[in-house]
Amino acid sequence: MKKNFLLTLLIFITVFFGCKENKPTISKVENDDKGSEIYVVKNVNIIPMTENTKVIENATVVIEDNKILSINDSIPDNSITIDGAGKWLIPGLIDMHVHGLSDGSFSENYPTQGATFPFNTQNLMTPYVANEVTTIFELSERIGLIAQRNQIEKGEVIGPRMALTAFIDNDGSIGSVKNPSDGRQTVRIAKGKGYKFLKVYTWLNQETFNAVIDEAKKLDMKVVGHIPIAFEGEVEKAFVANFGMIAHAEELSKQTSDYSYRQAQKFAQMAKKNNTWLTPNLSNMVWIINQARSLDSIRNSPGLKYVHPMFQSKWLTSNNYEDRDALIPTFQKQHDFHIKLVKAFKEAGVPMVAGTDAGTSGIIWGFSLHDELQLLVGAGLTPEEALVSATRLPATWLEIDDKVGTIEAGKFADLILLDKNPLEDIANTTKISGVFVNGKWLDKNNIDTMLKDLADWNTKNSDKFEWSKRREY
Ligand SMILES: [Zn+2]
Repeated sequence: MKKNFLLTLLIFITVFFGCKENKPTISKVENDDKGSEIYVVKNVNIIPMTENTKVIENATVVIEDNKILSINDSIPDNSITIDGAGKWLIPGLIDMHVHGLSDGSFSENYPTQGATFPFNTQNLMTPYVANEVTTIFELSERIGLIAQRNQIEKGEVIGPRMALTAFIDNDGSIGSVKNPSDGRQTVRIAKGKGYKFLKVYTWLNQETFNAVIDEAKKLDMKVVGHIPIAFEGEVEKAFVANFGMIAHAEELSKQTSDYSYRQAQKFAQMAKKNNTWLTPNLSNMVWIINQARSLDSIRNSPGLKYVHPMFQSKWLTSNNYEDRDALIPTFQKQHDFHIKLVKAFKEAGVPMVAGTDAGTSGIIWGFSLHDELQLLVGAGLTPEEALVSATRLPATWLEIDDKVGTIEAGKFADLILLDKNPLEDIANTTKISGVFVNGKWLDKNNIDTMLKDLADWNTKNSDKFEWSKRREY
């Protein structure tokens, strides 16, 4: 009986999914057009970022379509070979704190009305791709991001995978909530819209913060965010169950004037006990200090030419940190405390992930992640720990570790081929030979061409955009 049942089930599954397979869905047709490409990277040193394996030397990796088919197994016919001799293969990088630009309007903004200020999505994504960032965690809630995510998934644009958050605060903006019952309702609406992640913000009161995080727990949603200023003097109360991750080390330095290592250890223990992870986001304060010193830091930034001219204009003409010289000593003390926090969190064994706040002034998408990795190593992580913070650990927190974050057969082919070993020097993450983005191979020449196209467009159109006139668009 049981055997017959299983047989029937098997036939049903075969017929059902067989029929489904034959349906000419759009994505299937597009895949067929592209043909099934198989790449083999030969003689390469793999840094898989799995928990126990450091390096697999002289290995062969087969990539079929958008997946890693095998490691050190047979090589299929008709494959395209990439010589990996003397090179290093690491998983695509994940930036756990970004703010992207998206289609919209600088005056009234309603999703039911078309954007008056559209962007070329590829131009927004090229800096990520060129910097091997293959997954991003978006901490702004913007309707336009969903459209971008879909363009990438359909293969119309080459860009990173996107994890999106719903935003909850109490400052009069969208998602503004003043009391626990409104907070819970807002969480339920976000869940209904399909969000898995929530970002909580600075102006929530204690009761609402607690209610939002509790409701998220009930609905199996994860919470990242700021620690509201309402917790000043009693920050331990913010560590409630299901507060999953602090979005900046600054959230902690704002809560104390005691910048001792002992205080950093106290914060680390609170986080450890509550299973709250930390995105140190050291780049953020470094760039605040840079800009407070002089906006030449932005003007001379090699990545600036890859930023849309409207935002180059914003960063240079409407910059919150310009002429803040008087605050530099305070910022510097905070930055020093953030480094202590990284050391204390490492000592306590609290997971930390790399995130940059890309999109805030001076912090450029993609490029900033390499800076952050170097800052993390400067703060006391080993190069390997820094790489883990931008690969396996973010994938774990985002609950996509079965798909990305390590190099293993069956996972998506988000891979970086480097000319030099990043375990020896973390700056070697910038020595790029090529990148697989969801199985699509881009060598150094392809990447340079994409960057040049972007810089050319920005330069050619720079006269057309002025931040002070943004409402005229
Ligand atoms: Zn941010």
